[in-house]
Amino acid sequence: MSDRPKRDYYEILGVSKNADIREIKSAYRKLAFQYHPDRNPGDKEAEEKFKEASEAYEVLSDPQKREMYDRYGHEGLKGTGFHQYSDIDDIFSSFSDIFEDFFGFQGAGRGRRRSSRGSDISRKIDISIYEAAQGVEKEVEIERLSVCSTCNGSGSKPGTHPQNCPVCHGRGQVSTRAGFMVISTTCSKCRGKGTIIVEKCEICSGSGTVPQKKSLKVKIPPGVDTGMQLRLSGEGESAPGGGRSGDLYLVINVIPDEGMERDGEDIHTEVRISYIEAILGTSLKIKTIWGEKDIEIRPGTQPSDVIRIPEGGMPRLNGYGKGDHIVHIKVEIPKKVSSEEERLLKEIAEIAHIKTSKKSRGFFRK
Ligand SMILES: [Zn+2]
Ligand SMILES: [Zn+2]
Repeated sequence: MSDRPKRDYYEILGVSKNADIREIKSAYRKLAFQYHPDRNPGDKEAEEKFKEASEAYEVLSDPQKREMYDRYGHEGLKGTGFHQYSDIDDIFSSFSDIFEDFFGFQGAGRGRRRSSRGSDISRKIDISIYEAAQGVEKEVEIERLSVCSTCNGSGSKPGTHPQNCPVCHGRGQVSTRAGFMVISTTCSKCRGKGTIIVEKCEICSGSGTVPQKKSLKVKIPPGVDTGMQLRLSGEGESAPGGGRSGDLYLVINVIPDEGMERDGEDIHTEVRISYIEAILGTSLKIKTIWGEKDIEIRPGTQPSDVIRIPEGGMPRLNGYGKGDHIVHIKVEIPKKVSSEEERLLKEIAEIAHIKTSKKSRGFFRK
């Protein structure tokens, strides 16, 4: 990509901040058509515009990426596995559904041989809230289709070779004339590969891929939340016949700690104190995602008061600062007191001119 400052995605597509998916798709469709490389051969400016629009579309058409972008701008997309397009083929393979929609089929009219792309795979990954706070490196074991080492992915039995497809003569596409237009479609005999296998590899039965286990080390950035996805480009399934591998999506599941509630970057906890502590004040230790912290309960603390520990919460994904830890105070009134306590409380009531009940049933008696 070029080094010029990134433009706002909404501005690129020319839609408003609250545009719905239909408007976004339609805006992208218009731009993709206008700047399509086939219509602007050799025009670098058009190619940049095409890439820029595709990037904007990738983000704004994905609710999760869009939310991150709305909240944190371009910075927010770091660590979400979002990738920038370096070449046009990448765009065609990522949005093949859209392009099939737009132009009849992928990369229409480009005369390229269609190489199929490996499937994306998705795995859930559990991490604790503490790991989410600090960032963590995890080992993930996946089983995926990888290139068959016996036939090197060709699908042909070693020693034999695939033949040129007799239907499309190796082009992968067949052309039919409709009026004054020539329409190219993917060859159905070879499914666009241009070749057909004569003798199948015995290991992979001609598919060119075999299931294989692999363990990957994955760096999870601090601040992630449940439902966020990390995309590991090219770590999905291999494509038969040597096309681009699919991507691996890791779906984050942050396991909450008991008593801790997360709201974006803020963490909420509750602490129970006695009415005496509320009146006279005290100091307490509370659990935060960064370890134990001392807090001061001021004399005269009210039930449902909150104490805010700045920067005691989750780091922001953009790397700037953290949320707060918010302690909600609950004051407990004892259901029973000892007779000694009762006597002293009545004394206080007298000093404060408070009329109290004469009953003392249910109180502890010594
Ligand atoms: Zn094989
Ligand atoms: Zn063919």
